[in-house]
Amino acid sequence: MSDMWHVLESTFGYESFRGDQEQIVGHVVGGGDAVVLMPTGGGKSLCYQIPALVREGCGVVVSPLIALMADQVAALRELGVRAAYLNSTQMPEQRAEVEAAYRSGELDLLYVAPERLNTPGTRALLQQGRISLFAIDEAHCVSQWGHDFRPDYLMLGELADLWPEVPRIALTATATARTHAELTERLRLDDARHFVADFDRPNITYRIVSKSEPRKQLLDFIRTDGVVDGRPATGIVYALSRASVEKTAEFLRSKGIDAMPYHAGLDRAVRQDTLERFLRADGVVVVATIAFGMGIDKPDVRFVAHIDLPKSVEGYYQETGRAGRDGAPSVAWMTYGLADVMQQRRLIDQSDGDANHRRVQQQHLDAMLALCETVDCRRTQLLRYFGQESTACNNCDTCLNPPETTDGTVAAQKLLSTIVRLDREYRQAFGAGHLIDILRGADTARIREQGHNRLSTYGIGTEFDAAGWRGAVRQFVATGIIAPQGDYGVLTLTEKSWPVLRGETSVMLRLDPVKAVTRRRSTSTADELPEPDRGLFEHLRAWRKAEASRRGVPPYVVFNDATLRELAGRRPVTADQLRSVSGIGDAKLEQYGDDVLATIAAFEPA
Ligand code: ADP
Ligand code: ZN
Repeated sequence: MSDMWHVLESTFGYESFRGDQEQIVGHVVGGGDAVVLMPTGGGKSLCYQIPALVREGCGVVVSPLIALMADQVAALRELGVRAAYLNSTQMPEQRAEVEAAYRSGELDLLYVAPERLNTPGTRALLQQGRISLFAIDEAHCVSQWGHDFRPDYLMLGELADLWPEVPRIALTATATARTHAELTERLRLDDARHFVADFDRPNITYRIVSKSEPRKQLLDFIRTDGVVDGRPATGIVYALSRASVEKTAEFLRSKGIDAMPYHAGLDRAVRQDTLERFLRADGVVVVATIAFGMGIDKPDVRFVAHIDLPKSVEGYYQETGRAGRDGAPSVAWMTYGLADVMQQRRLIDQSDGDANHRRVQQQHLDAMLALCETVDCRRTQLLRYFGQESTACNNCDTCLNPPETTDGTVAAQKLLSTIVRLDREYRQAFGAGHLIDILRGADTARIREQGHNRLSTYGIGTEFDAAGWRGAVRQFVATGIIAPQGDYGVLTLTEKSWPVLRGETSVMLRLDPVKAVTRRRSTSTADELPEPDRGLFEHLRAWRKAEASRRGVPPYVVFNDATLRELAGRRPVTADQLRSVSGIGDAKLEQYGDDVLATIAAFEPA
């Protein structure tokens, strides 16, 4: 048994713990249960990896991400940790080998998929060895009303009965009070100590723009913000449907972007290839449904874009959190419009869940819409959702380019009374386009045929142009003053309409900035380095790339950017100097030390 600081140093090559890591590790090493809420990139893995190495026996890690287990285990083996995994992708011989290693006490860490852990066979196996701890990763998956529910997680509460002596640590980056309470209860972590980290991701710039031509807007965004030091950066684009994923990827490719589609309808082998390229190559943009990315710990994703509205703030936070895990400046960008709101309101209305389920979905959507329509700092709003207070960040679009607001009460009344009149006089309801035509006094065939130019509200909506009205209607739907109904999304009144019509409540409108002028700070990871060091950084990157492909692992498994940056800045010439660089522990020193020193010695500035 070695102590936790020694493991931190010698195995992981880090000088100090970060944030709550030290307390968490100490608590679990001492045999206590823990619930850890920490944002993506916060360093959750060390919280169970170090206790597993310090305590006697094998740490069992439950993770739903079987596609990533092989990489996680490979990265640990690089550090000299005796790690293995059990999941459905293995051949029987491989599995038998892992099982034998476990029985004979030759493993420090064993990753297991939850469905596997629930089988009698696996439980019997685990009884035949010594378990140092259980780590339940992505613990929010146990929450039924959350966005990533996995039925297999419900059984994990039983671990408390089966192994009462073994400490359990549950970890997640999803942090609402509700999820927190639910996972504590369902995983039976009543006596656990709770560690809730700061959820801010200061290096992520948040931007939400109003949707006009989404693909073109996306392309413009990628061409300006998806470039670092003149090289295309790695990014993820999220869309809701498979069709939209395919079309968007194709569009980006036709414009010269190295984009690849990813969704559950694609062949397993194709998906695996895409994931591999994303992890290993530079500058790949994956266009994906939300199925992509959970647990992917590629540290240098420079942007996450949403071209459809996420269903919840939790989902948005998790997805955008996949950007910038290395701490370098990154962007979360989204385009969103009336059609998104209409579509999601309709989907919820037509979903087969019970009334309670629909109400929960409705609340999720309302919170998401409030974030989109806010005129205050987006980060403040996002963090408040997770129960954390903060001040304006100066690193989001509303801080950098504050939107104007206007009193929209009269405009809302005009629209609402048009809906009332159409209902009373014609017994009909219409969608946004036609209502806007009436208000703006358009002379369309439909208006003439229907005689709608005789309505008293015809042509009175002079305060906005057509785009302005669409923005206003979007906000009215977002705040529930009107609601879409049926397959065609005709707009109807709600109980919130009447106080507005009677002049009892007023309505504020956000005026969408005409053209966002925010250019974000430089995103280069090499930028902080002076010129000659930057050259060496690139030189080391090239070496890392060759080394990674020779070994068949992602580059960050060899060394991460932070380590390369430190190497370039300090230019070590001896093994001792090398050993003091963050991220270089005993195993890495032995494996790469000579090569790295030779690579640095051979570097000649241009
Ligand atoms: P999470 O699982 O919370 O998203 P990870 O465990 O993947 O985060 O850690 C994110 C990054 O931070 C990784 O590259 C990891 O090596 C690094 N890291 C974690 N803890 C430390 C530490 N104490 N010192 C230096 N780097 C750390
Ligand atoms: Zn802000």
